[in-house]
Amino acid sequence: MKAIQVSKHGGPEVLALTDVPAPTPSEEQVLIDVSFAGVNYIDTYFRSGAYPSEVPYIPGSEGCGRVAHDPRGEIVEGTLVAFNEAQGTYAEQTVVDRGRIVAVPEGVDEKVAASMLLQGMTAHYLVTDTYPVEETTSLVVTAGAGGVGLMLTQLAAAAGATIFSVVSTEEKAELAREAGATEVFHYGPTLADDIRAANGGNGVDVVFDGVGKDTFEFALDVVRPRGLVCSFGSASGDVEAFDLQELKKAGSVYVTRPMLAHYTSTDEEFRARAQAVARAVEDGTFSVRVQEPYELADARQAHEDLQARKTTGSVVIRTSASGKSS
Ligand code: NDP
Repeated sequence: MKAIQVSKHGGPEVLALTDVPAPTPSEEQVLIDVSFAGVNYIDTYFRSGAYPSEVPYIPGSEGCGRVAHDPRGEIVEGTLVAFNEAQGTYAEQTVVDRGRIVAVPEGVDEKVAASMLLQGMTAHYLVTDTYPVEETTSLVVTAGAGGVGLMLTQLAAAAGATIFSVVSTEEKAELAREAGATEVFHYGPTLADDIRAANGGNGVDVVFDGVGKDTFEFALDVVRPRGLVCSFGSASGDVEAFDLQELKKAGSVYVTRPMLAHYTSTDEEFRARAQAVARAVEDGTFSVRVQEPYELADARQAHEDLQARKTTGSVVIRTSASGKSS
């Protein structure tokens, strides 16, 4: 089968189109004909070696496709499913644990299904469990027009929260507004003051920050006393070591660095969260914005564009002939 392989860690240029043997599912897994693979920022961390991974490997954990074979015969061949934690989705076929798949609701586009779970479940755990967002909550979301950012904004808007979204361009600002942001800001030296002014002179209850290194100080600055800084990503690099006393100075502030895997640690939790996301897509709570798909051979370009801040919403790769009709 055709697949993207990483044989050594590095920049987007290490994503090479290769012919590899198709994977064989264990009893715990199912074999999937992948139609679209979701492209996520975490894929760039594994590719660069920032997160540990043994080479060679096929990137991608998320996607959508049809079940090609279930060794236990429990799932009917041809069933359309979305999944996460698969073993390499930038490929025509992949294997995934049977507990990490969810049926795609009738009428949901395959490109949307391929990119709804990782970012959707992240947005879901952040606003329901890490900091339960309600009508009275004021929050900041950075990378507000990115994949997670737009979904988080939609969920928080559905809860009636006050959302201050931070983005880099006017095009992204428009998308953040459409998703339900109360007010949109660009980066600059007075950003924290400007947001506080818009929030009645107060810091916000919670900062959801996927940018990391470049925005950590800003997050401490803009959060209210005893508020939460939720640093869930490192698009600009990892937050550097800091003096714990800074949290006292910022007003007895809490900080967390959460990870999706810890909020989907059992199959039951995964299923409940995945089904909540699928339902939200089906009933329109989530309107997932997906860019025009990249072809499998252009995976390098997808990573280059994601890391150059050129993408908005979710990014997918078309992986097989079956995806070409969608
Ligand atoms: P995005 O679509 O949000 O893309 C990243 C965005 O980050 C860019 O579009 C850009 O938006 C912003 N950004 C700011 N500074 C930089 C920089 N120096 N380099 C690159 N981008 C920058 O990606 P995802 O939705 O896939 O992921 C968002 C974040 O969430 C990532 O950090 C990812 O690792 C994290 N994540 C964490 C999870 C968890 O459980 N902890 C799970 C899933 C994702 P702009 O131009 O508007 O600034």
